[in-house]
Amino acid sequence: MTKMLEIQHLKKNFDKNEVLKDISATVNKGQVITIIGPSGSGKSTLLRCLNVLERPTSGKVIFDGKDLTNIDEKELDQLREKMGMVFQNFNLFPNMNVIENIKLAPMKVKGMSDQEAEKIALDLLDKVGLKDRANQSPSSLSGGQQQRVAIARALAMDPEVMLFDEPTSALDPEMVGEVLKVMQDLADSGMTMVIVTHEMGFAKEVSDIVWFMADGYLQEKGSPEQIFDHPQSDRAQDFLSKVL
Ligand code: ADP
Ligand code: MG
Repeated sequence: MTKMLEIQHLKKNFDKNEVLKDISATVNKGQVITIIGPSGSGKSTLLRCLNVLERPTSGKVIFDGKDLTNIDEKELDQLREKMGMVFQNFNLFPNMNVIENIKLAPMKVKGMSDQEAEKIALDLLDKVGLKDRANQSPSSLSGGQQQRVAIARALAMDPEVMLFDEPTSALDPEMVGEVLKVMQDLADSGMTMVIVTHEMGFAKEVSDIVWFMADGYLQEKGSPEQIFDHPQSDRAQDFLSKVL
């Protein structure tokens, strides 16, 4: 198995608050990892440390053979282009229509021609079921549709890994399924994914490995069966008894 990301003894403090205490883990190419655990346990911080949106206090994050915590900004930016990220609140550019949102980074960052970016954007919109919405403004779309555009936008950079931070938490319940379906398709296509989620059914279905976080530690790592059906720690048993 090829390693995609390796986290070594990662720690993150916000002032005196030790949010990540000593995290080591590996993401292999093609793996789907879900991160579950109580609110405030450090899931978002861990995800944001993976692409150094949040700078770790100590420890290493190795991607493409480079320690992202120990390279210059220019090289970091180049490596970050290979890591797509999807946030809870979509974060589409409100002043651009749907297809412009998707074309922007490939054209600006990769220097792609308008024509080439257009083709890629339309293909991706087709994949997420929104080809007919290309020229609409984000605000005219539902939350579920906006999140599918945000996924297409991240994919337009042809990333090696996709990071998701609770992509369905801000959605009305009836829109959760359409976003999870797009993510499941992406997983089936072999994309490497790290997903923070509270959707336990989805996590059980889609994950190769589940990471259970509590109190700034990765308390348990294992297959969905191990974590959901046979949690070892009191912390995981307690959490799962409340959410399952
Ligand atoms: P989760 O995603 O599991 O709910 P977070 O990673 O968002 O947890 O937060 C973990 C802890 O880190 C919380 O105590 C939170 O208040 C704190 N925290 C997160 N981001 C910041 C920040 N930018 N500044 C200060 N504290 C933060
Ligand atoms: Mg969070």
